[in-house]
Amino acid sequence: MAHKVALIPGDGIGPEITAAMRRVVDATGVEIEWNTVDAGAGVIEEYGTPLPQHVLDAVEDAKVAIKGPITTPVGTGFRSVNVALRKHFDLYSCVRPCLSQPGDGSRYEDVDLVIVRENTEDLYAGIEFDEGDPRVAEISRIVEESGRKTFRADSALSLKPISITGSQRIVEYAFEYARRCGRRKVTAVHKANIMKATDGMYLRIAREVAERYPDIEFNDKIVDATCMGLVQNPADFDVMVLPNLYGDIVSDLCAGLVGGLGMAPGANIGRDIAVFEATHGSAPDIAGKNIANPTAEILSAAMMLDHLGENVAAAAIRDAVRATLAEGAQVTGDVRRALTGSAEGAVGTQEYADAV
Ligand code: NAD
Repeated sequence: MAHKVALIPGDGIGPEITAAMRRVVDATGVEIEWNTVDAGAGVIEEYGTPLPQHVLDAVEDAKVAIKGPITTPVGTGFRSVNVALRKHFDLYSCVRPCLSQPGDGSRYEDVDLVIVRENTEDLYAGIEFDEGDPRVAEISRIVEESGRKTFRADSALSLKPISITGSQRIVEYAFEYARRCGRRKVTAVHKANIMKATDGMYLRIAREVAERYPDIEFNDKIVDATCMGLVQNPADFDVMVLPNLYGDIVSDLCAGLVGGLGMAPGANIGRDIAVFEATHGSAPDIAGKNIANPTAEILSAAMMLDHLGENVAAAAIRDAVRATLAEGAQVTGDVRRALTGSAEGAVGTQEYADAV
């Protein structure tokens, strides 16, 4: 029976890289019933929202979706469609494997780590107050009354909620993932030395959860030291579990260790719905030119196939990507530039997908 998958092409380079991904997936012979639905700025005029109900229904119905990136206006306009999707379906685990590929043009050859990022809490919860909002002065007064250091009344504020239940389930996910995938170690990343209430509690919970998984090594690391360690010796890391904001930043850093954003796949996983997508954004600077690297999206599709139980097809895609990159003759401009300093001789997005 065909697997149902909701496909959200997105905008910017999204339509190009999802078209490339789809051709590669279809070439594996796995039967997929693609239900293509659009979201983002382009649908606001028709539906009055960047995330129409029928898109949510399509994802709910298929239980599995793969999407291209969607542009979020900076400062003003609608909040991120990506964040809204994650919130709506409570896709609390963001899983981002970073694996060195031969010929990926990066400085390292031995990176093999997995980021597990909490996806629903932290400073990304979107609880913000503009400067001048009268509630800011009120909160400032309450903080002062509690005897703590206060802040200027003309501040803008962003709250950082980190819950016990949210921390438990993400750390559990990281350990379960480590067990399932034969990984040896989980590292909890935090800034508990400074943010004692929020990150301190997250760390305490991580340690408690770790006790239930004696077969998996556990350690913790402060986020700044983690960044230095990743750059100096990425092979020290295996599975990393991070609160939302650090997870976002560190996963881009890790993408840089394996050839850049065009190489890093990802999945957003909830209790019964999973949405797969590349780590990168909509790259408006290169959209519509057939030069974007679709590898991250193609490898996200391989993660999706694993999720659907199509492990042979998933492995075939990973092998094909590896072989195409190792051969180096038909790669996109970002990879070529990283390898030789110039994009000369690169092939286009669709030609690379053909080679894969
Ligand atoms: P970006 O990831 O789109 O681009 C950063 C840089 O990396 C650019 O120079 C771009 O050309 C390059 N790049 C990205 N993907 C590439 C690829 N596949 N091949 C070759 N080069 C690639 O980040 P940004 O510019 O900060 O964000 C652009 C928009 O994307 C913003 O509106 C942002 O909100 C949105 N965004 C969406 C998602 C998502 O849909 N999940 C994720 C991140 C950012």
